Amino acid sequence: MQRLYQAANRIEAQLLLDLLARHRIDAAVFGDYLAGAAGELPADILPTLWLTDERDLARARQLLTDFLNPPPAAPAADWDCPACGEQVEGDFDLCWNCGRARVSSH
Ligand SMILES: [Zn+2]
Repeated sequence: MQRLYQAANRIEAQLLLDLLARHRIDAAVFGDYLAGAAGELPADILPTLWLTDERDLARARQLLTDFLNPPPAAPAADWDCPACGEQVEGDFDLCWNCGRARVSSH
């Protein structure tokens, strides 16, 4: 068994478990069932994800990173109208000033 991550709560642990399962990575959650045990420190009773096969560790870490830091949607870049020179917000495909269509730079 290979320790992967201590989740903030049981829900996060379950989400990660499902995510790993979808990528065919066997994992298990330990710890949350100790919540009622006497004498446990709070830090020890958070659910912790463990990998069944430590060879999955690199892939699991990548999935974990993506899970914790979802990439932001790239904002569309502003563009300059080739006809009138106005700057147009990237969300628009037509120049607000003269109506000319954006010319793709790709
Ligand atoms: Zn224009």
